[in-house]
Amino acid sequence: MKNECRVPVLLIIGRYILMKVGDLLSSAHEVDVVIIGAGLAGLAAALELQKRNISFVVLEASERPGGRVYSLQTKDRITIDLGAQWIEKEHVRMKKLLSQFGLKTVSTYKEGNSIYKFRDRVTKGKLPPLSASGYLDFLQFTVKLNKVSKALDSLEPWESEHAKDLDKITMEQFLLDHTYTASAGSVYKYLLEEMICCNLHEVSALDLLWCVKTAGSVNKFRNSEDIWIKDGVGMLVNKIAKRIEDRIYYRQPVTRITYEEGGASVKTMNGGCWKGKRVIVAIPPNLQAKIHYQPPLPFVRAQLLERSGLPSVIKAVIIYKKPFWREKGLSGIINSDTGPINETADSSPKDGRRGVLTVLITGDSARAEVNANEILAELVPFLGNEALEPLEVYLHNWSEQEWTRGGYGVHFAPGVLTSYGKALIDPVACIHWAGTETATEWRLFMEGAVQSGERAAFEVIEQIRC
Ligand SMILES: Cc1cc2nc3c(=O)[nH]c(=O)nc-3n(C[C@H](O)[C@H](O)[C@H](O)COP(=O)(O)OP(=O)(O)OC[C@H]3O[C@@H](n4cnc5c(N)ncnc54)[C@H](O)[C@@H]3O)c2cc1C
Repeated sequence: MKNECRVPVLLIIGRYILMKVGDLLSSAHEVDVVIIGAGLAGLAAALELQKRNISFVVLEASERPGGRVYSLQTKDRITIDLGAQWIEKEHVRMKKLLSQFGLKTVSTYKEGNSIYKFRDRVTKGKLPPLSASGYLDFLQFTVKLNKVSKALDSLEPWESEHAKDLDKITMEQFLLDHTYTASAGSVYKYLLEEMICCNLHEVSALDLLWCVKTAGSVNKFRNSEDIWIKDGVGMLVNKIAKRIEDRIYYRQPVTRITYEEGGASVKTMNGGCWKGKRVIVAIPPNLQAKIHYQPPLPFVRAQLLERSGLPSVIKAVIIYKKPFWREKGLSGIINSDTGPINETADSSPKDGRRGVLTVLITGDSARAEVNANEILAELVPFLGNEALEPLEVYLHNWSEQEWTRGGYGVHFAPGVLTSYGKALIDPVACIHWAGTETATEWRLFMEGAVQSGERAAFEVIEQIRC
């Protein structure tokens, strides 16, 4: 009799607990602004709102902040960046954040010769191997790129005078049309493909020239690997996340946004629900496309998102006992157009207590299966047999990451920007778009992510205050 009674009582208590948990999950928490994504864009937006005492919440799908920024500590307690790493002296917003959070930078080691492997020929030197005519051709193409990109409107490049012509052709075609020697053409093709993680024939000339425009010049766009952050970029995002820790929720993938002019309700995969007067979506466009919007997004915006895949990149970081290449008069920089290794750089700690070689595998090379042993073997002809004796190897394939699906940033195929570009940044009712893909300065860099987050925050502040 006693036991028979206990069963319904337990059932009632169980049902009550389930009901309360359900209530907690389904009842909406209200804030002024719901920010989706805790990458640099979402975090930069959050800092601006916090400064102005505007209530907000940051919903992050994964268990950490940073997104395409991802730092780790090795067994020897050396910090390495498996995602974004370098900044440039003109990245003013990033530099401001670094000084605000008390972080120091290191200049990239570039002494000694670099190694170039172009069209199966290996050379050493300070500059890529070019004949005198190839060198002149290289210079004239640099001038051409700067001139054409300068004429673009950085906010709305699709409205520029020659936008339609530039968006009709791939960047490969633009290169073929404006270079006259095979050597300059192939060196430039490599340098640009390395920067965009995909083939020039996949990308509109307008897209790439817009990136150049937002960086200021092609040299700034290509040479943006001057400085890195001593404790890793991860330290910066952790410090920002700490400052807003009671406002940030991890493991909360957003699946649905129900919106109107005056506000939105945002639902997560785990049943969470937040209501906000405004929403800032600070995730890459390919993942924005996976969210269910009610009402459906205007079709131009929806079709733009459907055309927004990220290219492929694998980043490897190899730890050696010491930076042995330096003793051979080498900078640790390798540029190769054949893969699997496309670029390497010396990221050793300043005190030289370990050698740290960063390896970037991009585009076609990143789409092919590659493992640590293949990478090490590939290094031998460039650096010698010591390359086969690492202490540790870290490999991160960004295409496999569910909440990114590639890197560095989205590039558009011909026709997309002139047909759909106008929907890239414009808010839809109370939804504002951030993320480095919407940047108009240093597009696709960390600097661009911060600029986009700040811009979206200012849009929202203006709406909330009026
Ligand atoms: C390998 C690699 C190397 C790079 N190197 C450099 C470099 O050296 N210098 C440089 O300036 N830039 C570099 N970049 C580019 C740089 O990382 C990006 O420009 C920048 O970090 C993008 O920030 P973001 O906030 O726009 O997007 P992200 O960093 O992608 O942040 C988006 C966030 O949203 C989250 N999210 C996604 N979907 C959802 C969802 N449905 N719900 C909730 N949250 C979601 C993600 O988990 C992520 O945290 C590199 C990128 C890669 C991949």
